[in-house]
Amino acid sequence: MYNFDSLSDWNLNFIERPLIISGPCGAESRHQLLETARQLTGKGVHLLRCGIWKPRTRPDSFEGVGVEGLSWLEEVKKETGLPVAIEVATPFHIEIALKHHVDVIWLGARTTVNPFLVQELAEALRGVKIPVMIKNPVNPDLSLWIGAIERIYKSGISKIAAIHRGFSSYENGTYRNKPNWEIPIELRRQLPGIPLINDPSHICGNTFMLSYIAQFAMDLQFDGLMIESHFDPASALSDKKQQLKPDELVHLLSQLVVRKPTSDDVVALSKLVDLRDQIDELDDAMIRLLADRMGIARLIGEYKYLHEIAILQPERWEEIIRSRTVNGVANKLSKDFMLKLYNIIHEESILQQTIQMEKEKQNVANDKQKIN
Ligand code: PEP
Ligand code: MN
Repeated sequence: MYNFDSLSDWNLNFIERPLIISGPCGAESRHQLLETARQLTGKGVHLLRCGIWKPRTRPDSFEGVGVEGLSWLEEVKKETGLPVAIEVATPFHIEIALKHHVDVIWLGARTTVNPFLVQELAEALRGVKIPVMIKNPVNPDLSLWIGAIERIYKSGISKIAAIHRGFSSYENGTYRNKPNWEIPIELRRQLPGIPLINDPSHICGNTFMLSYIAQFAMDLQFDGLMIESHFDPASALSDKKQQLKPDELVHLLSQLVVRKPTSDDVVALSKLVDLRDQIDELDDAMIRLLADRMGIARLIGEYKYLHEIAILQPERWEEIIRSRTVNGVANKLSKDFMLKLYNIIHEESILQQTIQMEKEKQNVANDKQKIN
């Protein structure tokens, strides 16, 4: 759709993926920022992140140091040579960030969610040349995410990246924000030119799952990682539980396996082609089987219509779910997968039966008309 620039066009200090962005959740003091930045310098971090204004869920918590922090960031740049990135949420933030030579800005999840605000920021960015990273909205809505990217792009910004930081949900699950990987995967399919960065910190909300999520993102060919770090996480004023010490970050990065899109090994590649051929054949067979199954569902629909039997038969459905899940698990398929699979099969089956019943009704009405 759009011809978005590639990562390397950002002209920052990096060449190869993954782009590593790290730094504290928020700037808290000159010492905290400088010390953290010093410890991150020369350790594989390409861009220093920090929040100057912190969007907090509840009032009376640390809401950032504000403008004062921008001069600390200028010092960080001067001393370490690291380019710096901050979150902006109002046109004023953009104006003052530019005055203080911030290199990259990002829109947070609570901003992306609001098209009015994104539009205001887009207007403020007209005529400005700065890379902009756009976090996913708090809710799992791909269109809203893409909409925000489009608004910023239309204002003339071409150096855009998307940050996947997970989606909030009411339940207290494993994650602070559920990854819903299918959403960034679909974003990548729809906007292939946009660099995709994963933020394991806000997905996990803790430090012990970070490397697992970061590796998963690498396996999905994300272009970069944004990971929060603090020289002394225990004293952090926000997101204390999820920040790594700089040397812990270095350890995490050293353990990462960065997978390439392809390989130079001809034998491995031909094996992959062979396996993919097998997948293609199995997919064909699966589609044929599903089509046959739906064909039978339509016959059942016809039969139910003629005998005035209800479409949904809860006992039969219970039995299908139970037996198919047992069978699936015995064949190394997860229970969760089997439940999801049979739910969508059942939904389609009911739809096909309903359409068939409508057709039957129409046929009977037509026959009656002919007779009359
Ligand atoms: C942050 O990056 O510190 C932040 C507030 O993130 P998010 O917008 O993803 O909640
Ligand atoms: Mn944070």
